[in-house]
Amino acid sequence: MYGQLSPMTEDRVTGAADPAARIAFILERQKAGWLSDPLPSREVRLDRLDRLDRMVVAWQERFCAAISADFGQRPLLLTTLTDVVPTRAAIRHARRHLKRWMARRRVSLGWTGKPASAEILRQPLGVVGIVAPWNYPLNLVLSPLTGALAAGNRAMLKPSELTPAFSEALQQAVAEFFAEDEVAVVTGGPEVAQAFTAAPFDHLIFTGSTAVGRKVAEAAARNLTPVTLELGGKSPAILDPSADIARAVPRLVWGKLLNAGQTCVAPDYALVPRERVDAFIAAVMAEVARQYPGLPDNPDYTSIISARHFERLERLVEEARDKGATVVELAGANDAVRRMFAPVLLTGAPDDAAVMREEIFGPILPVIAYDTLEEAIAYINQRDRPLALYWFGTDRAAETRVLEGTIAGGVTVNDTILHLSQDDLPFGGVGASGHGAYHGEAGFLALSKEKPVLRQSTWSGVKLLYPPYGGVTRLMLKLLGRLG
Ligand code: NAD
Repeated sequence: MYGQLSPMTEDRVTGAADPAARIAFILERQKAGWLSDPLPSREVRLDRLDRLDRMVVAWQERFCAAISADFGQRPLLLTTLTDVVPTRAAIRHARRHLKRWMARRRVSLGWTGKPASAEILRQPLGVVGIVAPWNYPLNLVLSPLTGALAAGNRAMLKPSELTPAFSEALQQAVAEFFAEDEVAVVTGGPEVAQAFTAAPFDHLIFTGSTAVGRKVAEAAARNLTPVTLELGGKSPAILDPSADIARAVPRLVWGKLLNAGQTCVAPDYALVPRERVDAFIAAVMAEVARQYPGLPDNPDYTSIISARHFERLERLVEEARDKGATVVELAGANDAVRRMFAPVLLTGAPDDAAVMREEIFGPILPVIAYDTLEEAIAYINQRDRPLALYWFGTDRAAETRVLEGTIAGGVTVNDTILHLSQDDLPFGGVGASGHGAYHGEAGFLALSKEKPVLRQSTWSGVKLLYPPYGGVTRLMLKLLGRLG
């Protein structure tokens, strides 16, 4: 229905060998499209959001099957839970709140501004580029798109090369539901991604690793393109002495092993009071067996996305072992052919082991024993600011001390992951875990220009400040100095 290209266009778009030329061509069309309707009405935006939702519904089975194929093993139910449901919820949330988000805001001025009036107009930025990773491929491309469309923008999407079947399906689905000058998909690897992020978008939303995020920030800076960086890092989980292990551990294990640990906000490591380490390990072991019996053959578990990542995880464990860490096998053995990585827990891993320096992004849980809360807080603050932080306990003073004494992208208290699932909360990192935020109104605002407008009245006292300067000016300055 949509995405029909004239023969010449088709030639230029799909036939162009040079990805930069192809990207520039689509971007030019989208900019022209945006200029033809720079402030789309609510009806136009609702229609786009509606089409997006219908696209997800119509393609749901094909998307889920493609994602399972890309991973090797990933349960359809997991993709439904983590990709389809949150994406549709984000669209619904945007539709429900769009009227309020779009409304002009009257601003009351102080006496120096009166009798002029003022308001803030929220305008779309133009064309937004969205670069996504592979771990939740549908959610992480369509949630940013929801904000972009709600705010009245056009958008170009660049999904990950590690999910080729999904990317192909997405390209077809988008062409079926959107005109190319509204939403377009560009596929390809790092070379295409580099050309994509070097294009002069009006805003870029990049979700991916901190290392690539740095490159994206540099490329965007050359065009002065503002960029939202949704990056990763090592997210700590702190078990307080006041925590109930029987309640905390199932929640921690769920967040750690969801998608086999390939989650940006997965707890990366656990800080545990020294005297509770043994009880913690025993509880983790029992809970892994309860949630995923029979690993590595359990059908609810997920494969590691690629052989390179599988080998990276094997190396992390081996290097930690070589450096003196104890490896506690939590279930079964690895199955390299199916890239099923059996979860392990590490104790005593030294600070210079790669597993303690790099984001793990897999089912390996280092446990760090601590003696005092201050020591746990200092451990976190000596490292890059994490994307997420988890605290388990009932001692409200300790909770406040952790919340106020650390900086993280977002926090869930007494659970994991869930702060990310609420569209009423902004989601984004800080420092090395990213900057800017999206989801719900935060996403709408990130992709809007809040334009202040001052409307002067017929009578204006400002003329009392016009040259030639003299006694009246001095009197006015005195008044302004005293009352301003
Ligand atoms: P990645 O950084 O390797 O790739 C992400 C995207 O960047 C891909 O589409 C890729 O093609 C593109 N890319 C690769 N090289 C590029 C370059 N030189 N210039 C521009 N783009 C380039 O990340 P990944 O392995 O796909 O995903 C895992 C990482 O993403 C983890 O660090 C994880 O924490 C993070 N992540 C963050 C969030 C979040 O919301 N903050 C969500 C999911 C994943």
